[in-house]
Amino acid sequence: MIRTRFAPSPTGFLHVGGLRTALFNYLLARKEGGKLVLRIEDTDQKRRVDEAVQQIIDMLHWAGIDYDEGPGKEDKYGPYIQSERLELYKQHAQQLIEAGHAYYCFCSSERIERVRQEQIANKQHPGYDRACRNISPDDARENIESGDTYVVRMKLPLEGERVFTDLVRGVVRIPYNVLDDQVIIKSDGYPTYHLAVVVDDHHMHVSHIIRGEEWLSSTPKHFLLYEYFGWEPPQMAHLPLLLNPDRSKLSKRSGHVAVEDYKAMGILPEALVNFVALLGWNPGDDRELFTIEELVEEFSIEKVNKAGAVFDIEKLKWMNSEYIKKCPVGRLTDLVKPYLQDAGYDISDSNKLEKVVEIIRTRITTLPEAAEQAQFAYQSEIAPEDDEAKELVSMESSKKLFSVLHERLTENAIVNGDEFKAKVQEIGKELALKGKLLFMPIRVALTGRAKGPDLPHLVDILGVDEVMKRIAKWKE
Ligand code: GLU
Repeated sequence: MIRTRFAPSPTGFLHVGGLRTALFNYLLARKEGGKLVLRIEDTDQKRRVDEAVQQIIDMLHWAGIDYDEGPGKEDKYGPYIQSERLELYKQHAQQLIEAGHAYYCFCSSERIERVRQEQIANKQHPGYDRACRNISPDDARENIESGDTYVVRMKLPLEGERVFTDLVRGVVRIPYNVLDDQVIIKSDGYPTYHLAVVVDDHHMHVSHIIRGEEWLSSTPKHFLLYEYFGWEPPQMAHLPLLLNPDRSKLSKRSGHVAVEDYKAMGILPEALVNFVALLGWNPGDDRELFTIEELVEEFSIEKVNKAGAVFDIEKLKWMNSEYIKKCPVGRLTDLVKPYLQDAGYDISDSNKLEKVVEIIRTRITTLPEAAEQAQFAYQSEIAPEDDEAKELVSMESSKKLFSVLHERLTENAIVNGDEFKAKVQEIGKELALKGKLLFMPIRVALTGRAKGPDLPHLVDILGVDEVMKRIAKWKE
């Protein structure tokens, strides 16, 4: 059975790149009838942020990526938090030491830094000079007994290269001489990521590892560990980097990278999921809109590209507007409510609210924009939004139009928006006004904007009395 995992480090918010990694692991697991594991990799206690685990879980839940095993969903391969599995890593490190694949290193960080500086000065590849690699086991034991602090390092071959197949990148070759004898147990007794990830992927029966490209260069060390332990390694797939439109690496400095930020910006989860799915993957044709169920159907790891994927926020906004158009009105109403409340609108009339949402949904790309678009329905003081709008209501022809319209509506009560429109058309004929000079000034009088929802809809929402009041304000 296929088993995938998402293995974030709880160092802060969930990054959009992390969301993509989680999604691809989820899609592969769901497509193949397998399981997705969530594993929290908190072996770097200095970088651990307390609320991060809950936040990651919340954001995955928000995005609709549900995992099968993990924190809160304990199963037989748990616990799923690495700091609760320390004994297991210690045992495995011990096993490597005994087999001669790992060794104790007593070098101080000052010495390591000094060696590094010398190497840089001599134009050599900077790295650990393996000074402790040949300390005999007896000497090492003596040092430990006398209280010396130590780390444990794995031995890397001194020459040659690692050749492996990556499901995204094909055959990858990495020479060993660019890699250090990696620390696998730190001086605080915690394992490093490299040991913990291999031990856990093995013990959690992970069959496919899908993760970011930044881990590609560490993969030879992981394969070596599998070999040292005599284990079958899983399949590997490294996802392409995420880039800004100028092709620099997407980073915190270049804009929003937290899933939470996109949620706060009023991006719908299905839009964000759809958007990140296309960062490095496509179905082989030019379709762009996919529900998560369709993604499960279409996804295949073979169609993931190795070229960096450009994160184009404009495209995300476009997708969001498409999902807003499709969203059932009840749900969309619930989603925009907080923004309308924040704007101070009285939205107690739920019937009216749904009507407003229905007509503004085609005009918003993110949820907070609803407040501005709904202003006409909830604020009685309407002012033209710009000079062009002001000009439209102040023209002589418009004043005439408003005064005739006001007069006719007073004489002849109308009952709905369609009747209102018919009246406007009738008056337009009489005054020889049409198009821009007819409907736009009325829309400005009613909403402050020249463009927007159709007049009949506006009238139905505002009610005839309010329409009369707004028109009266601009007649001569
Ligand atoms: N804990 C690593 C991270 O947060 C996961 C790398 C992996 O998936 O192996 O990036």
